[in-house]
Amino acid sequence: MDASKTHRAGFVTLVGRTNVGKSTLLNRLVGQKVAIVTPRPQTTRRRIVGIVNEPDAQILLVDTPGFHEPRSKLNERMVETARRSLTESEVVLVVIEAGAQLLEGDRLLLDEVTRSGHPLVIVLNKIDKMPREHLMAVVAELGQALPTAEIVPISALKRENLPELLRVIKSLLPESPSLMPEDEYTDQTERMIAAEVVREKIFLAMRQEIPFSTAVEVEQFVEVPERELTRISAAIIVERDSHKGMVIGARGQQLKLIGTKARLELERILGRHIFLELNVRVEKGWTDDPRRLKELGF
Ligand code: GDP
Ligand code: MG
Repeated sequence: MDASKTHRAGFVTLVGRTNVGKSTLLNRLVGQKVAIVTPRPQTTRRRIVGIVNEPDAQILLVDTPGFHEPRSKLNERMVETARRSLTESEVVLVVIEAGAQLLEGDRLLLDEVTRSGHPLVIVLNKIDKMPREHLMAVVAELGQALPTAEIVPISALKRENLPELLRVIKSLLPESPSLMPEDEYTDQTERMIAAEVVREKIFLAMRQEIPFSTAVEVEQFVEVPERELTRISAAIIVERDSHKGMVIGARGQQLKLIGTKARLELERILGRHIFLELNVRVEKGWTDDPRRLKELGF
């Protein structure tokens, strides 16, 4: 490191309504798939750190579950997690969808962040879906409502204006050496990534409420070095017998498809051959069982 240049580092938390593109943005900035993304709300369940290593800064991006009405204990844990990350970070990015109306919940969140005194960056995402003329008006309006916040319009999906966002984030971070090893890009273990990727494929394959009451538990994660292979065995936990049948599908086709998609993605992420075995297990009421939630990492 060049001693004449300042180096900055710190935690930066992403908050915002569910589905605005927080996880997509995290993956884009890190340059690796760290967080799973689906078109469904409430995909992200726990706090995930993505590490952006640059010559002059280390940005520890914290992806949080969205803030929403807690219904089950699982939901409560998700909201608590988001709140806690807020207090632990140096900078807060509030992600808003460019075309959407600001809702009551967004205002409450903006108030909460403003009161916390953290430097605030409003990230206006999905500008690819909005005409340019309109965008100027939205930025101007937000600027008036929140004069102390930085406002950065981006498209996470199309990678538009991300260098500018990085520049703004860095300018708000304190001087500090790196806080995590510089050759790592996430705090998640490969085991955790495996469970999340399987969960993503379930979210993408299944309808309605099934994904929201499903968890994935990796039971075996074994390297077989002589074959450059990792053998992973995971249980898909569902709440009802009927859900089990649907996840498995007729003649096991659904489960097979989920397994194939997860394996291919994991091979890309982990860079080696994977042998993936999935089984489905019914655990009634796991989303409200504190002991099980703890075991599953919530
Ligand atoms: P999160 O719930 O806030 O983490 O949102 P996700 O990152 O899971 O994204 C939700 C959906 O929005 C996914 O279908 C993404 O592909 C999509 N999305 C994210 N960023 C953009 C963007 O910049 N433009 C468009 N058009 N879609 C986006
Ligand atoms: Mg997410």
